[in-house]
Amino acid sequence: MSWRDILGTEEPTTHNSHNTQNTSQTGNSADIANCAEQESKLLETLATVCQHLTITPKEMQEALAPEDIEAWRKGEVTIGALSAFANALAQRREMDRGKRPANYSHPATCKHCGPIWLWFPGEVLGCPWCWNRVNNNPIPRPCAVTCADCEHFKRIDHPHLGHCLKGEPEAVAGIWDTDHRFCERYYPNTKQGEK
Ligand code: SF4
Ligand SMILES: [Zn+2]
Repeated sequence: MSWRDILGTEEPTTHNSHNTQNTSQTGNSADIANCAEQESKLLETLATVCQHLTITPKEMQEALAPEDIEAWRKGEVTIGALSAFANALAQRREMDRGKRPANYSHPATCKHCGPIWLWFPGEVLGCPWCWNRVNNNPIPRPCAVTCADCEHFKRIDHPHLGHCLKGEPEAVAGIWDTDHRFCERYYPNTKQGEK
């Protein structure tokens, strides 16, 4: 499948036909044609590295910084580097949706996110899931947590009941603080005892 099939977007020939309508500005037209050709080549290369991934060449092009594209034009960026970037980008997008990468197979603990999946076990001060926390995206959990330990648990005038400030499902009376759940919105409460 060609990159045009994958993209389903503007054909490079659109640029070309536009250029032919401005034949009086030959220098300009040559520049535009050159730009279109460069973009076409870039997208073709990106189509190769995006094969079997969940991102499109166009999305990857948008994620590349202008200096990266310039470096690619100068031949300073290898296909291997682009492939690595494509894989990382695709993985990041899946993680943004709360999906665990296949190689994140070890339960671990992030100081800020709580129980997380990582590619190694142990405790960390920050992790790739911190992006989800900052952007209010879900974090898949390797184990159950309790609302009693969560920053989003708001106690009511009851020794065990409260409500979820994140709007997670709860009973009519509220949530029992020691109930266990695999909550993707859980954040460790660093101010326990203040509520
Ligand atoms: S975010 Fe999850 S763990 Fe936290 S209070 Fe709400 S339901 Fe409980
Ligand atoms: Zn984290």
